[in-house]
Amino acid sequence: MAAIQKIGVIGAGQMGAGIAHVCAASGFDVILLDVSDEALKKGLGSIDKNLSRQLSKGKITEAFKAETLSRIKLTTVYADFGDSDLVIEAATEDEQVKRKIFQLLCPVLKPEAYIASNTSSISITRLGASTDRPTKFMGMHFMNPVPVMQLVELIRGIATGEETFALVREMTLKLGKSPVSSEDFPAFIVNRILLPMINEAVYTLYEGVGSVDSIDTALRLGANHPMGPLELADFIGLDTCLAIMHVLHDGLADSKYRPCPLLVKYVEAGWLGRKTGRGFYDYSGEKPVPTR
Ligand code: NAD
Repeated sequence: MAAIQKIGVIGAGQMGAGIAHVCAASGFDVILLDVSDEALKKGLGSIDKNLSRQLSKGKITEAFKAETLSRIKLTTVYADFGDSDLVIEAATEDEQVKRKIFQLLCPVLKPEAYIASNTSSISITRLGASTDRPTKFMGMHFMNPVPVMQLVELIRGIATGEETFALVREMTLKLGKSPVSSEDFPAFIVNRILLPMINEAVYTLYEGVGSVDSIDTALRLGANHPMGPLELADFIGLDTCLAIMHVLHDGLADSKYRPCPLLVKYVEAGWLGRKTGRGFYDYSGEKPVPTR
């Protein structure tokens, strides 16, 4: 099995930047691509900020931070992936965008290079089939925020080769993460279980069973969850939560996955959670305030 040393990352948003960060911190050379210099600058800025936070907590040294940053090269040109051993795609969750990326990527890659997608919901089998190397293609689903969260879900498409799976699993362990294996079904494992729970919390609010505060407090103290489900929904983004419920509903055709009308209404209102300053909580003040 060939060793992986050079990693390409496509998309410098919250996930791509986090993936570039952990790969570089684990000693891999990273090339990070996005559509514009601004997007790359923003991504590198967030990596710098997260490394500085670790430094201020005494978790890393100034030299480690400098070394990590020096391993990350930025680009807007696909040809720079010519010597990459593995490219991890973490661009916007849109199948057409991802297909276009693979069209541009495949011709410049070495024949022996592997591709992984960080998609949260799109079929790995279908994405793999859109490349020139379905056997060397699989899902590598990191959790947000990447530098903090332990889990990576590894997803085999129907054509994914065993060597590909074993190599990406080994790579995940080298990143200090814990892999679990999931079959290629809508929303994989974590979101298949987590999102219906969040959706049910929204139904519980919608039906007036409890207030935002009582629902979140109940799950924190009664189920020992570190964060209540509505607080967590605001953190993930209510548009993302709704999109995943649609994937489950469409993909599994079971009415138990119907999105709660209140979740739909919040998304229609543009109340998407933390990122827009309002969701189930109002984030305009110093402390989040429940809105219902
Ligand atoms: P984001 O919006 O923060 O970042 C997406 C990035 O992709 C942006 O920087 C954008 O400029 C870039 N991009 C768009 N089109 C591109 C193209 N054609 N070529 C190169 N770059 C392009 O999104 P995100 O939250 O980082 O999500 C990225 C992927 O990770 C998605 O597939 C998403 O489903 C998945 N994911 C997200 C989370 C999460 O909690 N946000 C968790 C796990 C997986």
